[in-house]
Amino acid sequence: MKINDSIEILKGVGPKTLKLLNNLGIFTIEDLLYHYPNRYEDSSKILKLNEGVPGEKGTFRCRILKNTQDRRIRKGLYISTFLIEDETARASLTFFNNRFIGKSIHYGEEYLVYGRFERFKGLIQISSPEIERLSEIKNIGRIRAIYPLTQGINNNLLEKLFAQVLPLNLFENKLPKDLREKYGLMEKNMAIENIHRPSNRKAYIRARNTLIYEELFFFELSILQLKNNNIKDSGIKFEIHDEVFDLIKNLPFKLTSGQEKVLDEIFKDMEEGKAVNRLLQGDVGSGKTIVTVILSYIAKLNGYQSAIMAPTEILASQHFQSFRSLLESRGVHVRLLVGSTPPKIKEEILNALKNGLIDILIGTHAIIEENVEFFNLGLNVIDEQHRFGVIQRKKLQEKNRSAANIVMSATPIPRSLSLILYADLDLSVIDTMPMGRKKIKTLSINSSQEKDALNFIGQELKNGRQAYVICSLIEENENLENLEAVEDVYEKLKSFYKDFNVALLHGRLTGQEKNQVMEDFKENKIQLIVSTTVIEVGINVANASVIMVYNAERFGLATLHQLRGRVGRGSYQSYCILYNKSKTEISWQRMKILTDSQDGFYIANKDMELRGFGDILGTRQSGLPNLRLANPLRNINILKYAHEDAGKYLDENNNTINIFKNESKKLNL
Ligand code: ADP
Ligand code: MG
Repeated sequence: MKINDSIEILKGVGPKTLKLLNNLGIFTIEDLLYHYPNRYEDSSKILKLNEGVPGEKGTFRCRILKNTQDRRIRKGLYISTFLIEDETARASLTFFNNRFIGKSIHYGEEYLVYGRFERFKGLIQISSPEIERLSEIKNIGRIRAIYPLTQGINNNLLEKLFAQVLPLNLFENKLPKDLREKYGLMEKNMAIENIHRPSNRKAYIRARNTLIYEELFFFELSILQLKNNNIKDSGIKFEIHDEVFDLIKNLPFKLTSGQEKVLDEIFKDMEEGKAVNRLLQGDVGSGKTIVTVILSYIAKLNGYQSAIMAPTEILASQHFQSFRSLLESRGVHVRLLVGSTPPKIKEEILNALKNGLIDILIGTHAIIEENVEFFNLGLNVIDEQHRFGVIQRKKLQEKNRSAANIVMSATPIPRSLSLILYADLDLSVIDTMPMGRKKIKTLSINSSQEKDALNFIGQELKNGRQAYVICSLIEENENLENLEAVEDVYEKLKSFYKDFNVALLHGRLTGQEKNQVMEDFKENKIQLIVSTTVIEVGINVANASVIMVYNAERFGLATLHQLRGRVGRGSYQSYCILYNKSKTEISWQRMKILTDSQDGFYIANKDMELRGFGDILGTRQSGLPNLRLANPLRNINILKYAHEDAGKYLDENNNTINIFKNESKKLNL
């Protein structure tokens, strides 16, 4: 068996199970081994029923005597209760929505019961437990890993699969031996074994530290390699002509001090002919686009072309319009190249580009394709960079290695951290918002307030404003009870707002259809868009004053903040309505973070605390090593060591290792 083999070869994985495991992202043996538990049940400490601590979870060894209750309380809530006892007390064991549990219980036998311990009026209750029949447990006193699951895959099945692969020690030790010894880390296979089947607490902690360090070490190694790739003695020397200041003077607004500061920083490097590799951060709506309009005008005046890459066609064509409206009258030739550009036009663009007839090419990843050749590329801009992979960034940058590089992101992370995570980039931050912006009034509502919210939106439409209504994507096999499908909401709102034009926008439309909808929305031919998150990034329509998000509980906070940033872009008082269909405490806490704050920095930090890091940095799609356990924010100390060690390692090995070698193939680029 090899690490890349399909999990099909394991006992217990038939076609049906295979599909379910695939849904969990598990395709190969390696994926399986990297499917880490999200928590553990510690049966190494077994309590007596009279030792339980109210409100806390614990493991108890008891007999299940009989079934005492089995009934539906209300729609969606089914309760089953059992009487249990040990030598110290009797208690009741309560399961929610697990109506067949009773069938599998062997009454009178001993079980290990792990669950929340409560005391009501002297009665002990253990709720939402996991139970295991004692006679079936191989070694009592172990720590049991509990995994993220999906319907049809239970913990036992995963344990059986792990039992087949863990003993084979399939991983190589990639981490250099001296580093392993320096920090007293485990060998890889031993660490993997102990993350899945910890022999004791100490071993678990060592295993975890080992894997966190390893993740961060290879993460840093790849970042530093990128940096080394970028290091060039010098870049293009740009002159900043008077025309540039004339453009700035004639903008429809005055630049904010944050924008001016950032421009100063970049101008300085450009004039000195330094290599420009810069991360431009600024909260949603801080005005990053105009900075790049100005920079690409500089490039043009110096005889260079610019490439602007955005993650969606909608955003690309919006940029296309902004750039054109500001620069075309100044003799700058701007073109748009996206996936849906017709082949004939594409060919014409490619020719013109090669011959230097186009000054600024704006597009999606269509512009990094092999056959896109520039005459003399001088500036690369990547917008919403967290949506792109490192490799895509490299692809663009390699079109001309001395061109200036600006990557933009609305995701603010602490400076200390970005210096390490984006070690290959200098950092500029737009830390002010344009004047006259009103605070976006944000509120979270439940289902009893939906009608009010819709009426409110109707009022805004009557006042001449426009609105967005966002629905989450529904994946196949999801329980639909609490979910609003975008098509249903569209039908509902179309008949609710009879006097207005309502349009549906979602990922399955072609690029052209999407653009048409956005175009019509901009021109106010459409007043309300019902959409999935395709409008999440960048969209800018100043007349839109309300955004309402259905099933807001399903979105990350950073995404909600981005969505909210679609309104409040002009001078109108704007509103964001978060329709939370979940009743859980945590979901309301999350909503509160957004209703309390408009500070993207604060929100991103909260999001990282609640959801971990991968999502926010976009490392999942970035092509950088995955961070599964490590959280750079929480593990900042380990990160610092990993950063240092990776640097030394590269020096000692003369930068000869290239860990991106195989990545391009994997990503199909
Ligand atoms: P983001 O940083 O989110 O990409 P944009 O570049 O899309 O933000 O800018 C948001 C809006 O703010 C746009 O309509 C833009 O024209 C406007 N804007 C940018 N800079 C200023 C400014 N200094 N004063 C007023 N409005 C501005
Ligand atoms: Mg933007």
